[in-house]
Amino acid sequence: MAAHLGASVTVVDRDGLGGAAVLTDCVPSKTLISVGDFMQRFEAATELGVGFEAAHAGEEATADASRVNARILALAAAQSHDIEQRLLSEGVRVCRGVGRVLAPGRVRIEAESGGAEDVDAEVVLVATGATPRVMDTARPDGERILTWQQIYALKELPERLVVVGSGVTGAELAHAYLGLGSDVTLVSSRDRVLPGEDAEAAEVLEGVFTRRGMTVLSKSRMQSVTRSGDSVTVTLTDGRTVEGSHCLLALGSVPNTTDLGLEEAGVTLKDGGFVGVDRVSRTTARGVYAAGDCTGVLMLASVAAMQGRIAMWHFLGDAVAPLDLKTVSSNVFTAPEIATVGWSQKAVDAGEIDAECVMLPLSGNPRAKMQGVRDGFVKLFARPGTGIVVGGVVVGPRASELIHPVAIAVAENLTADQLAHAFTVYPSMSGSVAEAARRLHVFRT
Ligand SMILES: Cc1cc2nc3c(=O)[nH]c(=O)nc-3n(C[C@H](O)[C@H](O)[C@H](O)COP(=O)(O)OP(=O)(O)OC[C@H]3O[C@@H](n4cnc5c(N)ncnc54)[C@H](O)[C@@H]3O)c2cc1C
Repeated sequence: MAAHLGASVTVVDRDGLGGAAVLTDCVPSKTLISVGDFMQRFEAATELGVGFEAAHAGEEATADASRVNARILALAAAQSHDIEQRLLSEGVRVCRGVGRVLAPGRVRIEAESGGAEDVDAEVVLVATGATPRVMDTARPDGERILTWQQIYALKELPERLVVVGSGVTGAELAHAYLGLGSDVTLVSSRDRVLPGEDAEAAEVLEGVFTRRGMTVLSKSRMQSVTRSGDSVTVTLTDGRTVEGSHCLLALGSVPNTTDLGLEEAGVTLKDGGFVGVDRVSRTTARGVYAAGDCTGVLMLASVAAMQGRIAMWHFLGDAVAPLDLKTVSSNVFTAPEIATVGWSQKAVDAGEIDAECVMLPLSGNPRAKMQGVRDGFVKLFARPGTGIVVGGVVVGPRASELIHPVAIAVAENLTADQLAHAFTVYPSMSGSVAEAARRLHVFRT
């Protein structure tokens, strides 16, 4: 964006363009999930009247972990290469190495190829991301005890996988490996999975997980993980133990903000080491902006990218609107998917906003019936009186796509009536979004 606006830009990067989002986190995990989802379709086929017995008697669909992971890594590397080519074609200078802020306006680059160079700049954008959190009592070894960044080196599918942590990353990867054929146990310290998401959506997902054979251990806090040969033991704080062939740790992330010279340059770090920023991505040091996971504002690739754009628009004097988290849509890539935007049920229940709510199960949707979809719902929140849509939740197949009309309504302050009046295709899942909006209509005489 900065180059597009005419700035001369240098990017310092130590791993590869696209960062963890492309190389180890977002892109690889979604690719793995797509393979698990594909495998799961075989299970659903029987209900639709499709059988494989005659064509492949005695055969079962199996995933070849080596090939699956090789494809994932190749895809991530290709995407990183594409981004690099795009930057180079825009005239951006790309330096492979580690950056450190010496002062506002001055960055030292320790080049991967050796040597150091100091670069002067009118503006510095810190976008160093975050790293998986690890504990001393559960040290990853890259073979059996793994962070989410290490799973793509596996040559075999984990036979019995214990996933520790039931936030978005833990739930998504537990779902992926269940679909791929692993025996999965999900260890959750809270009383349900996805504690940060809509409670009814999380309940639907936990029900599906259990029905499909996953063991979900709620109110179970991990104390330690140890390995003995080919097996791992997860010990819980209440003394129970869970055995597996592999353990995947999904304990959250810590920001990459140490040894960057930030505090010396006048940048204030908040609790947990996150860079403090305002809504146009300014830090406390003049000319130093920050974006993405290192700020902890909302750990999503889409938000990171928007914070970065906002920073450049702001510094370079283009028109800019401050970041508005109430318009961010996000998705949990499980089956069903859980997509949300705007105000949440929790905020409505806590009285933070006055909103009316309609919840419509997908089981009544004709397209869902045709496709054998039973789990899921559409939920909309609208302001009483004006009927302006302020939030929504979609739980269902491809909820990540279905949330878009709701996101437009929230971003543009549309009313439920306006959302309802747009035609939807019959039959379609989006028909349920329009129907939920219709049910929010208030009859006025
Ligand atoms: C498993 C998983 C799945 C996810 N899936 C999604 C998803 O589906 N959708 C979504 O929106 N978000 C998703 N996220 C979140 C998303 O990956 C992050 O929000 C996003 O990566 C943040 O981007 P960033 O640019 O801040 O940091 P990163 O993508 O982490 O990039 C920062 C880069 O800077 C490098 N770096 C650090 N320090 C230095 C230094 N001193 N010098 C040079 N380079 C340095 C790092 O090595 C890294 O390559 C997922 C996260 C995880 C863990």
